[in-house]
Amino acid sequence: RTSLDVATIRKDFPILNREVNGRPLVYLDNAATSQTPQQVIDVIVDYYHNYNANIHRGVHALSQEATDAYEEARQKIQKHFNIAKADEVIFTSGTTHAINLVANGFSSFLKTGDEILVSAMEHHSNIVPWQMLAERTGAVLKVIPMNQNGELVMEQFHELLSEKTQLVFCNHISNALGTINPIKEIIDASHEVGAAVLIDGAQAAPHIKADMQALDVDFYTVSAHKLCGPTGVGMLYGKEEWLKKLPPYQGGGEMIAEVTFEKTTYADLPHKFEAGTPNIAGGIAFGAALDYLNQIGLEAIAQYEEELLKYATKKLLDIEGLKIYGTAEKKTSVISFNIKGIHPYDIGTILDKLGIAVRTGHHCAQPIMDFYQIPGTVRASFSFYNTKEEVDTLVEGVKRARNMLL
Ligand code: PMP
Repeated sequence: RTSLDVATIRKDFPILNREVNGRPLVYLDNAATSQTPQQVIDVIVDYYHNYNANIHRGVHALSQEATDAYEEARQKIQKHFNIAKADEVIFTSGTTHAINLVANGFSSFLKTGDEILVSAMEHHSNIVPWQMLAERTGAVLKVIPMNQNGELVMEQFHELLSEKTQLVFCNHISNALGTINPIKEIIDASHEVGAAVLIDGAQAAPHIKADMQALDVDFYTVSAHKLCGPTGVGMLYGKEEWLKKLPPYQGGGEMIAEVTFEKTTYADLPHKFEAGTPNIAGGIAFGAALDYLNQIGLEAIAQYEEELLKYATKKLLDIEGLKIYGTAEKKTSVISFNIKGIHPYDIGTILDKLGIAVRTGHHCAQPIMDFYQIPGTVRASFSFYNTKEEVDTLVEGVKRARNMLL
């Protein structure tokens, strides 16, 4: 049974009080972005009300206050993910930026014939940058296949690994299917052949507290907007040895040690990868969002979400013709489904009329849709502030849509 006081938690989220199309909002698109609690909104407002200033530059009081708050947020992130050094935390604009930063850096290390392994269930942001990298370097992209349940075929992964493998990329949790991937096995096996591993934690961070040192992963990425923080900010974790080796991604202010027209030397970590004025309020709010989640407790959150997932799965499967994609034994609170004979977009549109927000489409993971030979799915994704009553509303809505459309 849940230990969460969901009724009290919901009071922290002002948006949950609003109506959509004359009905109370039922927000079930948490895998796309999570909602923001008042505690995090307050931190953003406080920054603009009281100490808005550029960081790492000014000697004046406001600049000092802003710098301290921003660096304190970096330390909160470091602590949350059990990262050895604060310098290994690079602020980015999100997961997409973080992955591109690493892919760009690896251009200097790869040569023709090197192999890059990518899982079959990646978000486009974890496919396209590697394709671009392969094109630039002559490296070959190989795919770790998945099975009908939406699980990676690990025997084939082990077969694909060889001394040619330089890089392996996989998400911790699939945004389209909810599968929790066996990342520790992937990391350890990849290291045995000398390959580096990047894990895309965008979807995992709101549910699982990943421990960077225990995982021994080389790179891990997070977007704050998926974990009750604001958009436009995220983290790249990188092992210090890698971050020292990788060239800078963008040039500009903040990332230099010394500039002349003849030669520029770069700043130390983490600033080498943080060119330009960052999303200062966003970074500080990222830290506040982690405080908020930790105060509730990620284990309690995961346990409650598991209850919601089981409850919703059972109820939805009672609907005739409904099929769920992604039935991995280990999954989080994402349900991707279709009803035989109905386009997902039509279901999504009717649900919206009923105030229910779900995502429809390919979820930025077209290869998964191709694998199942479908145009897309309806995806309901649950967070700790959702209730069983909301699941009931979803199920009633889907039934209604089915009756209208069939
Ligand atoms: N990877 C996964 C698994 C995701 O779910 C997302 C966001 N949908 C991304 C990457 C991209 O994150 P962002 O758009 O915040 O850069």
